[in-house]
Amino acid sequence: MSSTFVILLVGAVFCVLMLLVLISLLRSSIAGIREWCVANAFACAALVLYAFGRELPPLVAYEVANGVYAAAAVALFAGFRRFFGLRVSLPILAGAVLSLAAAIAFFHYRVDSFVARTIVVALFQGSFCVGIALTIRRSRKAWRSRYPYYFTQTMALVVALGHFIRSAIYLGHAADMTSLLQPSPWNLVFLSLGSFVLPVLTFGAVMMVHDTMMEKAEHAANRDFLTGAWSRRAFFEIAEREMSRSQRTGRHLSLLLLDVDNFKQINDSYGHAAGDQVLIEVVLRAETITRSIDYFSRVGGEEFAVLLPETSRTAALVVAERLRSVLERKAGLGVAAYTVSIGVATLHGTESYHDVIKRADAALYAAKATGRNRVVCEPD
Ligand code: GH3
Ligand code: MG
Ligand code: MG
Repeated sequence: MSSTFVILLVGAVFCVLMLLVLISLLRSSIAGIREWCVANAFACAALVLYAFGRELPPLVAYEVANGVYAAAAVALFAGFRRFFGLRVSLPILAGAVLSLAAAIAFFHYRVDSFVARTIVVALFQGSFCVGIALTIRRSRKAWRSRYPYYFTQTMALVVALGHFIRSAIYLGHAADMTSLLQPSPWNLVFLSLGSFVLPVLTFGAVMMVHDTMMEKAEHAANRDFLTGAWSRRAFFEIAEREMSRSQRTGRHLSLLLLDVDNFKQINDSYGHAAGDQVLIEVVLRAETITRSIDYFSRVGGEEFAVLLPETSRTAALVVAERLRSVLERKAGLGVAAYTVSIGVATLHGTESYHDVIKRADAALYAAKATGRNRVVCEPD
């Protein structure tokens, strides 16, 4: 059994393994996984066809094998585009595969040249690897953790470089190159590279899928489903952390408790869906004036808390007044009018989260009792 045969079959087995991993991720409904499955199935088939190339009719060993391998690269590329929510043009991609098959047929029936066929395939595969690297790089804003994206991008570039170097070497040593299955040192290097491209890039894709799933899970755990504000649970943890930091550094920390006025009436007059819309709008509008270091949380039905790190009592009062004013909404066509009341408290000494929230709550109660649509600060 020749070493080239073994390399190709081991590559095919890895494609099957990656396919099985991808199948387990299908139910996450993350875009791109289907295309990556197709890519690994194609790659596995192509590698088996290459391995048995000598026993197969030339049409299958050349045109079909290279066409299927090209379809694998194209499907892999399409998967990365879909993953990042980019458009995929099937006619263009199918056209690319057919053009590759046509070029192989030309260098088989018209000018029978193993070197020319190898160079065409290497340039094709290399270009799609560059395409994958560029797709990942251009979608930088959608990256969460960096490692899976850098890994896949770098691997795609390394493989592309390998394909381009292979083209150059084959061009320079045309006379010595006669077959893909010839166990020359260069052939072994490039064959190994080619056989493991799909599994390695799929490995990167799987890491990217895991990163996305983790992000979704974190979001579900830490964010309020309706408004996207921090959840009550996450806010409690954040508040504990920020309070110990403030007590350690001696920096101010303030807390606002904000409640939509007469919200029950809004629900009763406009319906529950309109009430929900008000809650979503409150968060969106509040975000326009809070800083990136502030934490806006939905702590109850129509009750919100805002944690303001490095903010004194006086500064917190200014923020609260600005919030109240931004959140004072006049009635529009089919849109409910609403206002909010806000209670303000500032952290003193080594007191607990519950002490501060109790004082903010008392201030909020006072704001409600004295007529609503106002800011009340805890007593000095
Ligand atoms: P106040 O000015 O004293 O705060 O009066 P209020 O009507 O805002 O307060 P109350 O506690 O009487 O009513 C709050 C209402 O908020 C009752 C509840 O049905 C409604 N609510 C709680 N959660 C949601 C929600 O997620 N969506 C909608 N639409 N309504 C909610
Ligand atoms: Mg209310
Ligand atoms: Mg309330």
